[in-house]
Amino acid sequence: MVDLKAAVRAIPDFPKPGIVFRDVTTLMGDPLAFSETIDLLCDAYKAHEIDQIAGIEARGFVFGAALAHRLGIGFVPVRKKGKLPGDTYSQTYDLEYGQDTLEMHKDALSQGQRVLMIDDLLATGGTALAALDLVEKAGGKVVGAAFVVDLPELGGRKKLEARGLDVLTLIEFE
Ligand code: IMP
Repeated sequence: MVDLKAAVRAIPDFPKPGIVFRDVTTLMGDPLAFSETIDLLCDAYKAHEIDQIAGIEARGFVFGAALAHRLGIGFVPVRKKGKLPGDTYSQTYDLEYGQDTLEMHKDALSQGQRVLMIDDLLATGGTALAALDLVEKAGGKVVGAAFVVDLPELGGRKKLEARGLDVLTLIEFE
């Protein structure tokens, strides 16, 4: 069993003093850790009859696309404002300071498709809740949300579960 936690690098004082950034690029760059991550996600969801993975920009694209390929299903990008070329749904959400907006193509999903959301890390849950709203606007049914890293002290899991979401996280940092 690969130690996934050890494969995530901590960068102190990024993006600002006092924050320890959990950098999953080191996990992605480690072939054993990356493949173990995708194996664990695949085992968790292969029986869930998922139709599409919705990956959140940008690191959610990496894990989400690899998992979609393994499950033999499609991948839908949830992007930052202004990046998608077609007609989009938009969802604005609060950050610690200010706001941000995520978008998804209006025609990315068929009505009732079963969708799994993927991102690298769950903190306050604001990003994932915005993505959930987008998938629902586009007609999808979110059957779960998976994250490689959870920062439980920031309460994201509780917020997502309060919205009825099934949440999977592989590793935690206090
Ligand atoms: P939330 O909306 O507060 O849950 O923040 C999660 C989003 O911010 C995800 O899209 C993450 O990629 C990003 N994020 C927040 N903190 C970190 C971190 O320490 N490492 C990597 N990504 C982070």
